[in-house]
Amino acid sequence: MNEPPLILYVEDNLDNRKLVQRVLRASHFQFQGAANATEALALLCQQMPDLILMDINLPDIDGYTLTETLRQRPDMAHIPIVALTANVMKADREKAAAAGCNGFIQKPISVDLLPEQIIAYLKGNTPL
Ligand code: MN
Repeated sequence: MNEPPLILYVEDNLDNRKLVQRVLRASHFQFQGAANATEALALLCQQMPDLILMDINLPDIDGYTLTETLRQRPDMAHIPIVALTANVMKADREKAAAAGCNGFIQKPISVDLLPEQIIAYLKGNTPL
């Protein structure tokens, strides 16, 4: 792939979006942010990301439901979707997996580890 990977981050908290944007751009990813599920769906009509980072608590549709919706689309079947959330109990992980997430990155994110974590998911590693 010649183009840097495009990462879509669905997250209603502006500070979180800005932080992840800064970290990912510094690591030469392309970045798109969506503040809610509606914005995410609109962006997905225009351009297909290489990976989606998914907040769970969103103001319109929650991240589990949005992930389930995306997984029903044939063009989304092979896009890694990684839950990015502070909800880290076993039940939360199971719910994320059941919804179709490939894995799980705990909030608060590690600025140092995030680029490597994303690269691992892009390579198809699924540590969930
Ligand atoms: Mn949220």
